[in-house]
Formats: sequence, C-alpha cells, structure tokens
Amino acid sequence: MSKIQEEIHRIQAGLPESVRLVAVSKFHPIEALQEAYDGGQRIFGESKVQEMTQKYEALPKDIEWHFIGHLQTNKIKYMAPYVALIHGVDSYKLLSEINKQAAKAGRIIPCLLQIHIAQEETKFGFSTDECRSMLEEGNWRQLKNVQIAGVMGMATNTEDEAQIKREFSTLSAFFQEVKETYFREVSSFKEISMGMSDDYPIAIEEGSTLIRIGSRIFGARNY
Ligand SMILES: *Cc1c(COP(=O)(O)O)cnc(C)c1O
Repeated sequence: MSKIQEEIHRIQAGLPESVRLVAVSKFHPIEALQEAYDGGQRIFGESKVQEMTQKYEALPKDIEWHFIGHLQTNKIKYMAPYVALIHGVDSYKLLSEINKQAAKAGRIIPCLLQIHIAQEETKFGFSTDECRSMLEEGNWRQLKNVQIAGVMGMATNTEDEAQIKREFSTLSAFFQEVKETYFREVSSFKEISMGMSDDYPIAIEEGSTLIRIGSRIFGARNY
C-alpha cells in the first residue's frame, strides 16, 4: 500500500458511520488521485474549477467531485454537468447563478451554505445573521435546480482547541436551527461540512458529517 492509501485507510478506520471523508486533492497531480482512488477513495475536493474539470475528465466516472473553493460565477458552467456538491455558497446571487447553470445542464445541484465561524477576517462566508435573512426572504424556494443540503465552515487557524471547538459548536447549532426552521421535513438537508487535517477530530466531536482533508493525505502543497 502506498503512503497515500495508508493514510486514507487510517483516517477512514477512525470515522463514525455518519462521517464521510472528502480527500482534498487540490494542486496534486492526477497520479496522486489515481493512487487514492485505487485505495478505495471516491470523494475528492478541489478548489479551482478548471483543475477539477481536467481531473474529472481524466479519472474514473464514479468519483464524486466536491467543489470546496471560492466560486466565480463565470466558472460555474464548466462544472455544472458533473459536480456532486458545492461547499462554499456564500451569497444568494451565487446560489441563483448555480441554479441557472444547473437548469441548463438538466440537473439539481446540492449546495452547502458557507458560514463564517472563524475570527480571521479573510475567510469567506455568510454571517449567521446574513444567512438567516437570506433564508427568511424566501426567494431561494423558487430555485428548483439547487438543493440546499446543509452548511459548511472553517475554524480559525489556531492552537487553541477550546476556540476551535466553540466555532464548530456554533456551526452545529446553526445547522440545527436552520433545519428546524426551514428544512424540518427535508431529509436532504443533512450535511455539516467541517474539519480539516489539523482539526478534524474536534469537528467530528461537534457533529461534522463531511471532513475535508488534504495535506494529511497527500502531503504539503506547493501553492
Ligand atoms: C485546502 C482546504 C482544505 C484542506 O486543508 P488541509 O489542511 O490540507 O487538510 C479543506 N477545506 C478547504 C475549504 C480548503 O480550501
């Protein structure tokens, strides 16, 4: 078994059944993804549309491609035919653009609402209040080609585990609130995407259903 495969197996072995692993393969070559695939991995996360599309074309078709990056509206059309889940939707405008491209592709695309839970200024996402207003306004109900499938967030990059835990706990509580208010009967609203290489065990304790792990599997990235 290769190092990549060993690490995937090690992580998978420790996951509760309710948690799925997204192998974040951004900036790594096709061969690394093929290795992971041969080790049984089927969900991959990418942050650039063009790079993801090249990898989609080169690799087996039973892979689930998750887009985890910041999205530009003019790129949506390239992934609309195949993307399995878009994690980082942080405006109504983006949601309605995805809806438009999904309709053209004849699909319903699952999306996660990205919530800003970290202290850092630079991370994208709705504030919880912005997200509440967007949902309360209700226009999203007209968007028949997107399915709001849950929430996504990134914790502050810090050594302070109590802080990370608080941030993930905030996201979990927000998920519950939104579920009860808008998606009570909707079984497809079910995902809490949180947890990366350095903080995923805490994210799992706080209720994550999708962990997004890159460097721990594939090694350091050369940006
Ligand atoms: C790059 C990235 C990850 C993976 O980060 P690692 O620390 O390498 O595990 C997870 N989520 C998002 C949104 C990312 O951009």
